[in-house]
Amino acid sequence: MPSKPKGGLRPRPRVGKPQGALPFISPAPFSQLPFPPTRRPSVLQEPVLVLNATFEPINVTAVRRALMLVLKGVAQTEEHNHAEVHSATSAVRVPSVIRLLSYRHIPQQTRALSRKNILLRDRNICQFCGKHFPSSELTLDHVMPRSRGGHSSWENLVACCYDCNNRKGNRTPEEAGLQLVRRPRPFTLHTSRQLMRLIGRQDEKWRKYLFY
Ligand SMILES: [Zn+2]
Repeated sequence: MPSKPKGGLRPRPRVGKPQGALPFISPAPFSQLPFPPTRRPSVLQEPVLVLNATFEPINVTAVRRALMLVLKGVAQTEEHNHAEVHSATSAVRVPSVIRLLSYRHIPQQTRALSRKNILLRDRNICQFCGKHFPSSELTLDHVMPRSRGGHSSWENLVACCYDCNNRKGNRTPEEAGLQLVRRPRPFTLHTSRQLMRLIGRQDEKWRKYLFY
């Protein structure tokens, strides 16, 4: 029996040479980056901005992984770092910005719901008093209290200082006379871009790709 034509399947737009299957680029590296960076990590762990084939910034990865993508021919270096890494036979300049050679469709990025990621999203700012705190002085608050059916979700969890947390207790912000600084949202590509900009402030070479 002849196979039916596959309707509705259209090839994805490609830019540049098709390279076969792209390795999965994990959105995780953000959480592995020191934030805010406190001391200079080893060169192989330094952040590298990853651009799509269209020059759209899509991720931040570490030098080690960026070099692997370049060596495999999946990406090319757009900007170099100050440093070189040496193998037995050659020296390679360290990338600061790489670009994928094939266009990659980026699904809505979602991240693990964790205390660390909530604090990262809220930039360590208590979402009720608007003040900045070190992570150790922040807790997570359920905007709609759990005892009243509030879920543990991106939309219902916010960074909160202990004072505001005590003040709010088992009440909604309205009942406690508190107001949210920002409506909590899931970690999206938009949030990622904001973080890329924050990290990018330290690397001049990222600017032209991020501050558009
Ligand atoms: Zn507070």
